[in-house]
Amino acid sequence: MPELNLILFGPPGAGKGTQADRLRIDFRLPFISTGDMLRANVKDGTELGKKAKEYMDQGELVPDELIVAMVAERLGEPDAQDGFILDGFPRTIDQAEALDKQLSELKRHITAAVLIEVPDDEVIRRLSGRRVCVKAGHNYHVEFDPPKRDGVCDQDGSRLIQRDDDKPDVIRNRLEVYHNQTEPLVDYYDQKGLMRRIDGTRSPDEVHDHIRAVIATLRLEDDV
Ligand code: AMP
Repeated sequence: MPELNLILFGPPGAGKGTQADRLRIDFRLPFISTGDMLRANVKDGTELGKKAKEYMDQGELVPDELIVAMVAERLGEPDAQDGFILDGFPRTIDQAEALDKQLSELKRHITAAVLIEVPDDEVIRRLSGRRVCVKAGHNYHVEFDPPKRDGVCDQDGSRLIQRDDDKPDVIRNRLEVYHNQTEPLVDYYDQKGLMRRIDGTRSPDEVHDHIRAVIATLRLEDDV
């Protein structure tokens, strides 16, 4: 079976994390989220975490050189050799070029970039209601997916909080950053014939089914 190297794209709040979690189980691939990796660094107080935090709190992008080095190291680990799912990376053309360079040196390539499309007003609605648990980052939504007990994680009983970057001003900035810096990547991967679009306003199950169908088609094309 050819390796499956996937990129999940889309605005913040498109459901990339939710889908990646399912795909990780479906295809037994490591899920590499640069946002999660950075948040772990911030929590652990590493040098990288200290540098990244000020950008993250404003909804700005962390400088490319920090991110590219972090991802390059992660993709070199044994569990990523048969494929991976990237979430939140690349986010700039420079990052995409650095990724292509690293992969081509290893005679590997991206299989597809899956774009989960969601309009801005829906993003704002989703993110402003999102709550995460302090212990493991389990996600809830005050309106669409509330916990059984207000403010308490169903899975591990820890406290639910709002991420600093899910506050309304920061959400608006994240969206602006997405449109200005990340959206140009849609053309980048379109030109390479790798971009696949998914309607992200549908239910998580429908989005999941659609992505699986896209992957099945890719595999058929690869087998021909
Ligand atoms: P996320 O959870 O993917 O929305 O990421 C949260 C924050 O981490 C972003 O708003 C950025 O500040 C930072 N970040 C995550 N991935 C990247 C990336 N590929 N390039 C630059 N900054 C990033």
